Amino acid sequence: MYRGRFAPSPTGPLHAGSLVAALGSWLDARKQGGAWLLRIEDIDTPRCIPGADLQIQSQLLACGLQWDEEPEYQSSHQADYQKALEQLIAAKLLYPCTCSRQSIAQHLAKQGITSARNQEMVYPGICRPADLKADAATHTHEDKVAWRIALPQDCQITFEDLALGVQEQNLNQEVGDFVLRRSDGLFTYQLAVVVDDARQGITHIVRGADLLSNTARQIHLQKVLGYVRPNYLHLPLVLDEHGEKLSKQTLATQIHTEDAPHALAELRKAAQHLGLRNLPDGQGITIAEWLLAATHAWKS
Ligand code: GLU
Ligand code: ZN
Repeated sequence: MYRGRFAPSPTGPLHAGSLVAALGSWLDARKQGGAWLLRIEDIDTPRCIPGADLQIQSQLLACGLQWDEEPEYQSSHQADYQKALEQLIAAKLLYPCTCSRQSIAQHLAKQGITSARNQEMVYPGICRPADLKADAATHTHEDKVAWRIALPQDCQITFEDLALGVQEQNLNQEVGDFVLRRSDGLFTYQLAVVVDDARQGITHIVRGADLLSNTARQIHLQKVLGYVRPNYLHLPLVLDEHGEKLSKQTLATQIHTEDAPHALAELRKAAQHLGLRNLPDGQGITIAEWLLAATHAWKS
């Protein structure tokens, strides 16, 4: 049974880019007769805006994108993430780390590696013990340490994306040992998303291609936690009416869903970005009718 989801972070109202992800995942689930769940990813508490979750829900409803089952909140699943963390610690796959961004950058600079300001640094294994098995680290509640996963020596991940085809990433070369729980005690997106998708029995992950570079990390976590790997479909880059890639700026534009004509206009824009052509122009048609036509047009 198909189970899909839309997993927005409540850092603000839906914008053009997130509506594309919502519509794409909704259409794919509906086309395949599956369930479509809403999960509010409020794990990075400092970045969450109070009330944004409800705003997102009312925007989705205004667009006729109704979810199945009760919406879930990551903030109420801390115990699940802790359990997964402890499972991996017991398996001797994690190690504590006290590096700051700055100390990592300095270490890399000494090796002649500099990275762009906003680019993620490949972690060079500074705190990684020589022998993971010998290290008796069990102090998971101790604060001020981050927990990193020790990648196996050759960690080349290959998967087939349903839209983009075969994808490959060498985690050692491109990411390095990554963090599952931060030194401030917050679990990271990578761990939370994998635990939640497994717990909720998600079979199809349909989301924006901006998240593609995270997928290999998530597949690695699924492997070590013994979870089933879901199918992935990353929605191809969003094009504007001239066939140009939409800028970050445009994607971040606020959407207007205050009445049905506005909501329909936003849906039509999102559909265009998804490459859906020849849909009704929205004149004299309800949102439900338009969504049905879009579902028929969706290729899954
Ligand atoms: N919460 C993530 C975001 O809004 C999406 C997570 C996902 O779809 O895997 O970017
Ligand atoms: Zn460290």
